[in-house]
Amino acid sequence: MGKVAIVTGGAKGIGASISYTLGKRGYSVVIADVDEEAGLYRLEQFHKENIDSLFVRTDVSSETDVKNLMDEVYKRYGRIDVLINNAGIGFSGRSIEEQTLEEWRKIIDTNLTGTWLCSKYVINYMKRNKERGGVIINIASTRALQSEPNTEPYSASKGGIVALTHSLAVSLSKYNIRVIAVSPGWIDTSRWQYPPKESRLTNLDHKQHLTRRVGIPEDISSIVLFLVSDEASWISGVNFVIDGGMTVRMIYLD
Ligand code: NAD
Repeated sequence: MGKVAIVTGGAKGIGASISYTLGKRGYSVVIADVDEEAGLYRLEQFHKENIDSLFVRTDVSSETDVKNLMDEVYKRYGRIDVLINNAGIGFSGRSIEEQTLEEWRKIIDTNLTGTWLCSKYVINYMKRNKERGGVIINIASTRALQSEPNTEPYSASKGGIVALTHSLAVSLSKYNIRVIAVSPGWIDTSRWQYPPKESRLTNLDHKQHLTRRVGIPEDISSIVLFLVSDEASWISGVNFVIDGGMTVRMIYLD
């Protein structure tokens, strides 16, 4: 039996690409997503390519759903090696004066509390791996480090994920569990949507990057594949920024 990886928000976007990449490299992949239709579509695609995979409908902000996810996966596979906390939602772009408490809570509950809940309930299973250990990857964002106006709930949730990663890495090292944050920059997920979409990016969008192009989900999944592997066994408690060099580029205010 190969290693087992859970990818939250694995039905679409970056999460779907991570699920596919891990599945192609021999991991059994569990797609844990709130979107059942997209999850079942993705599962069908994966089965056509002989990727061992399972879909468990999960709202990561629900404690009951998360407990059920971990139980179901362990029942099916008898082990859990990797957790990718990727499920997340964006921001409305409204000014803080117009943002509602409901909006703030929904973003914090999904992005930050969801990451905390999934990490909390996977530990009981990962620690059974003893010296084999486990890996938790938390998908944060460059918005944890750099901002534009009107992103408060999202930026706070992602900053929280980076800090949570540090704390988890320290607490879980005794179980040989590595915990790493990955902060993507601007990623065009159109090809991995359900159904796939046309990209609407302009030349100007691409030119914001030192690499002269916006990222694609594969730019993230290839690094995640490395970080969960034994080749990365000395890496824990850090935040990997993968952004085509956008964050270091200086901007001028008018
Ligand atoms: P996406 O919207 O394409 O995919 C997100 C997935 O999460 C969807 O399948 C959705 O159904 C699922 N999801 C949403 N709420 C959920 C919940 N409560 N429980 C379970 N699943 C839920 O988004 P994406 O662009 O692929 O983003 C994936 C992650 O990467 C997010 O955490 C996002 O904040 C982060 N990120 C994205 C970008 C980007 O430019 N795309 C940049 C930085 C960080």
